[in-house]
Amino acid sequence: MPRVFVKTAFEAIKFECQRCGSCCHHRRPQEFGPLVPMERMAEFWEKSNLIYLTNEDIDRISSKTGLEPAGFVDTLYEYDGRCVRVADSGKKIILDFPVMKSKADTTCVFYERGCTIYAARPRACRLFPFRVEEETTAQGDMILRIDYNPSCPGIGTGRKVDKRSLEKLVVEQFRERSEAVAAEVRKLAGTGRIQKDARVFRTLPGNAAALDDSVL
Ligand code: SF4
Ligand code: SF4
Repeated sequence: MPRVFVKTAFEAIKFECQRCGSCCHHRRPQEFGPLVPMERMAEFWEKSNLIYLTNEDIDRISSKTGLEPAGFVDTLYEYDGRCVRVADSGKKIILDFPVMKSKADTTCVFYERGCTIYAARPRACRLFPFRVEEETTAQGDMILRIDYNPSCPGIGTGRKVDKRSLEKLVVEQFRERSEAVAAEVRKLAGTGRIQKDARVFRTLPGNAAALDDSVL
């Protein structure tokens, strides 16, 4: 059973949000197609700032706003609550994680001179400007390394960051997503729909180019 470790890549740091709104603009890097191979994930993370949503985030925002998920969730395939797809006769496992929809100017659908769902905002927004890089060790363990985005003007201002709260948030986000993926992969594998040498891809939501219509 692989173990999961959380590490912060910095010692002590101060942070206070300056409400500049720049993290509510969501970049979708143009050089990526709709499916992003895992070997390019580091590059993808560096260039995109999509706001990923867990199922719990979606439920919370829905009940707070009264909106159906379709009103604010963006996925590559039609959203039906699932985040794992299989294509190419089981040779491709596609992780289609829901992200927040954006307006034409790339701002979040909930951004109106500030966040209109602040109390119910997703974990990813609570976490920003801190970000998580996932690393797998030679033993197969997972390291969640927390770093920060130096372009945020709030870094270096305000109070010292409580690393324990940050780590707790990261663990909760990782757990919610992993449990959802594991349950769906188990179900698909149980019906023989995944081949042993299947490759894993991530989607670039909002980039609905021509897609393989044999997706399950
Ligand atoms: S977290 Fe940083 S980038 Fe986002 S609104 Fe606050 S100061 Fe701006
Ligand atoms: S939910 Fe709020 S904080 Fe998060 S991106 Fe949208 S407007 Fe910004």
